[in-house]
Amino acid sequence: MLSKLNTAVVQGIQGQAVTLETDIAFGLPSVTIVGLADKSVREARDRIRPALINSGYSFPAYRITMNISPADVTKHGSHLDLPMAIGILLSCEELEPSVSARFAFFGELSLDGSLKPVTGILPMVRAVRQKGIRRVIVPMENAQEASLVDGVEVYGISCIRRIVDFLQGELCLKPLTRDLSRYEETREDDGMDFLDVRGQEAAKRALTVAVAGGHGILMTGSPATGKTMLAERVPGILPPMDLEEKLGLTEIYSICGMLDRRRPFMHCRPFRRPHSSLSRAGMIGGGAEPRPGEVPFADHGVLFLDEMPEFPTATLESLRLPLEERTVRLIRRGRTFEFPADFLLIAAANPCPCGYYGDPDHECKCSAADIRRYQKRLSGPLLSRIDMQIHLPSLTYDQVMEEGRLDSRAMREMVARARDAQTKRFRSTGIRLNCRMDGKMLRKWARLDSDSELILRDAYEKLNMDPRMLDKTVKVARTIADIDGSGKIRMDHLTEALAYRRKESI
Ligand SMILES: [Zn+2]
Repeated sequence: MLSKLNTAVVQGIQGQAVTLETDIAFGLPSVTIVGLADKSVREARDRIRPALINSGYSFPAYRITMNISPADVTKHGSHLDLPMAIGILLSCEELEPSVSARFAFFGELSLDGSLKPVTGILPMVRAVRQKGIRRVIVPMENAQEASLVDGVEVYGISCIRRIVDFLQGELCLKPLTRDLSRYEETREDDGMDFLDVRGQEAAKRALTVAVAGGHGILMTGSPATGKTMLAERVPGILPPMDLEEKLGLTEIYSICGMLDRRRPFMHCRPFRRPHSSLSRAGMIGGGAEPRPGEVPFADHGVLFLDEMPEFPTATLESLRLPLEERTVRLIRRGRTFEFPADFLLIAAANPCPCGYYGDPDHECKCSAADIRRYQKRLSGPLLSRIDMQIHLPSLTYDQVMEEGRLDSRAMREMVARARDAQTKRFRSTGIRLNCRMDGKMLRKWARLDSDSELILRDAYEKLNMDPRMLDKTVKVARTIADIDGSGKIRMDHLTEALAYRRKESI
């Protein structure tokens, strides 16, 4: 007899609802799975048989054929174990088809019939919900995550026996439904404040500008000047994400199994700090079944590249397109997979391999050739996509002992003011931040008065700037004016922006 039931698979970072058909017929006992199933799905055969037998059911000695449709979607993941086992029980008439048709099923089976949590629950449950299914059965540990989807009743169940009892009405269970109040954001979560950073007030100001307008920033300076401390505190001054942003980010972390099971919701902006040995695939994503990398993990948050020149050139170059287009595109078997890449890039670099080139108090031990080689590793094309650059000075004793002045709260307020101005300005343009303005927008919204124009012309000629740097300087000036609540870009806004311009070397 033929049975049908609902489940889903993950494609890239999207869930896709699929139907599993199970047919049991006379013939040599066998299990055949058709419909582009990969190794992880074919392995399910070896788990389902003991899982069913150990749960007290007989495994049918017939020819079993399973088809997962639509056919052109590749199916992978152990979460298809449970739907397949339920499909067999339905086809053996152990279960009533009209009941199971109202549910979607997800879960990996242990050989003893218990359910193990799986990855990608959120996007898969979203996908079946869009198809009109309102009840899902998932492993206990996945129930909270599944309940992030609005309008779904989630039944977290620990073993196959209990699922059958529940579907037959012999077991009563209370479903879990969405309750976002349990994830209310608290700002104090990470306990980090810019006030903790001493003596680097100018850098704090520059980071406020960077965050306000979405400008990528490179910080240079000797070791122990506070670059990492500063970068870590940036997510705390970004405005809160909206619900869709949080859910989108949670889906990416769900697929990669990176959610905290007790609190499976990405309610705070991410801060990613990959190691400098990271490959290109690790940075943007990769693999035969493409999986996201650090760039999508940093979506809506911060990607911090500490010791940027230490990263492999191919890894750094892979950032160029995502920085420009705010998306990662990977092509596999003629299909395009897109991952989001809306992140703020913060890079840090020492001026030379030993870290002390140009430092008044320490001697640099590097040769001129070493320094040249090191600085060259930051390729021109990537650097030219970073809007701002600042140098962090080594601190004197007095500066170290001095109390910090700018705190996260004040910086957050400045960012919020500038972001409000940008939201109004870009209402019907498809962009949200000053860093994304094109030439036409610059002419419309970032006009300079004649005095400022003269300063910029002078800087262009004397400071060996290129046209791209010129545009970036004006965009940064626009952001500084927005922080100031000024519709016009004034001379002091422009001169501050010029101080943040990218230098020829670090
Ligand atoms: Zn050195």
